[in-house]
Amino acid sequence: MSTLKEKRRLVAGNWKMNLDLKAGCDLATEVVEQLGKSDFPVVFCAPAIHLHALSDIVKDASNVYSGAQDISSHESGAHTGEISGGQLKSVGCSYVLVGHSERRAFHGETGDLLAAKISQALANDLTPIYCFGETLDQRQADQEEEVVARQLHEGFAHLDAPAMKNVVLAYEPCWAIGTGITASPAQAQAIHKFVRSWLNERFGDSVANTTTILYGGSVKPGNANELFSQPDIDGGLIGGASLKPADFIAIVNA
Ligand code: PEP
Repeated sequence: MSTLKEKRRLVAGNWKMNLDLKAGCDLATEVVEQLGKSDFPVVFCAPAIHLHALSDIVKDASNVYSGAQDISSHESGAHTGEISGGQLKSVGCSYVLVGHSERRAFHGETGDLLAAKISQALANDLTPIYCFGETLDQRQADQEEEVVARQLHEGFAHLDAPAMKNVVLAYEPCWAIGTGITASPAQAQAIHKFVRSWLNERFGDSVANTTTILYGGSVKPGNANELFSQPDIDGGLIGGASLKPADFIAIVNA
């Protein structure tokens, strides 16, 4: 019988704004072929242009899914350039990143907007992967727990416990994203434990025990094992290393 931690496992790659259609399809095909059968979900969070083709590539693979990197906070209508949850669902998408630090920092995404995006994801049967984490200044001022608690409150204050069962969390300290600097396993575990106790206080122990909490920030084949063996770290959100099939597969296997 699998443990609670085994049931929570998931690894997602965030391709960001990389790879044209052919390169993305080649990458996904290679990962799917080499990965074989996965016991837990593996997700490619790809640019929107890839999603239709990706759903074909992952449809016969066991436990491999496509995910978007953003979703509109609106259902439909006059929102030029936006992509709705219904549209993502219609091309076979299963997951969507919400609140990545690059969108918070460079696209002005606020707590209210992110809460609306989470609602749109859930309304369209997409699993939001909600990203949060402190900046370097905030960590140096010992504010990481306060910042994380605020971001969680902003994202989820409007949800109840049943809705929370369809959400994945990703702790990504901004100072570790794309920098090559990884949070130490102890630093990451401390925040993951804090997040689980926040979930417990707000939504009860069933949500706290079953919610998948990923770590993201310069995860590599060489550090994945130690990070993922922490009791409250259930897997990873992988940026740069998800573009290299061998590295991504090594991280999934960790
Ligand atoms: C990310 O973009 O979500 C991320 C974790 O990037 P990297 O792994 O490159 O730090």
